[in-house]
Amino acid sequence: IKGQYGKYFAEYNDELRNKLLREQAITDEMEQALEQGQFEIYLQPKYRIKDDSLAGAEALVRWNHPKWGIQSPAEFIPLFEKNGFITKLDQYVWDKTCRVLHEWEDKGYPELSVSVNVSRADIYHADLVGILVHTVKKYGLPPSRLHLEITESAYTENPKQIIDTVNNLREQGFVIEMDDFGSGYSSLNMLNDMPIDVLKLDMKFIQNETAKPVNQGILRFIMGLARWMNLSVVAEGVETGEQLERLREIGCDFVQGYFFAKPMPCAEFESLMVPQGGL
Ligand code: C2E
Ligand code: CA
Ligand code: CA
Ligand code: CA
Repeated sequence: IKGQYGKYFAEYNDELRNKLLREQAITDEMEQALEQGQFEIYLQPKYRIKDDSLAGAEALVRWNHPKWGIQSPAEFIPLFEKNGFITKLDQYVWDKTCRVLHEWEDKGYPELSVSVNVSRADIYHADLVGILVHTVKKYGLPPSRLHLEITESAYTENPKQIIDTVNNLREQGFVIEMDDFGSGYSSLNMLNDMPIDVLKLDMKFIQNETAKPVNQGILRFIMGLARWMNLSVVAEGVETGEQLERLREIGCDFVQGYFFAKPMPCAEFESLMVPQGGL
């Protein structure tokens, strides 16, 4: 038995050691990766449920490392949130996203809005509002073209500060989406005081469990609440036609998910758009 414990301990140790080594490698390379343009913007389309028309996109970052290949943000974003690099990376993502929107104008594509993710760490940055305003201005865009996704859990940490910041952002014209809505416990409580425009439902409501009648009941309730509060609702993680039908049934406004398309390079996304008018 003693030997067994020793073995588990050794395995655990190896795992932990590999994790730390991996984190160290990521940390060693991140600055250089940013300078060398290894971070790329992928766009995942978002559709209007009522007529299946393209409504916009969410910008999701990918790390295209020369040796490791395409890396998932699910691994490096939490690390960057710990070591503080996220503020720098997010500013880069916002800038690149606005540049793409600006290029679309020149190419005559429709004036879609794109959502970017704002990490909880960004909220505490002294000049978040100034930086975002500067970024849209740099590319001649109205702030409303940029939707800002802030995860629900960020709202619970420092409600006072986030309410102030979000109010300022809205005054400037940015559209605020609460990401992962329903993932925590205080969602309903919070909604009352939160100046937001869009609810983005947590994937758990949409995926496998959706089949449960109680989930459909909760979704119906959230939709009613959203209507009453004048918020529009986005469902993400839609993977099947059946899920889409259930969302249609409750009157959800927008959908995003693998059923329609995975996040894709910007050039590929352009092929989904039809140029407006002509020269
Ligand atoms: P999120 O903001 O909740 O983004 C949604 C995630 O769900 C994305 O994962 C997306 O690719 C994935 N997804 C979309 N449709 C489906 C579907 O039908 N089924 C399933 N199973 N998944 C789907 P991704 O791109 O790996 O990003 C993971 C998380 O990393 C994001 O979750 C977000 O929290 C963070 N993230 C990504 N890009 C950025 C960024 O530029 N800045 C910040 N701060 N965070 C980012
Ligand atoms: Ca998001
Ligand atoms: Ca313009
Ligand atoms: Ca989400």
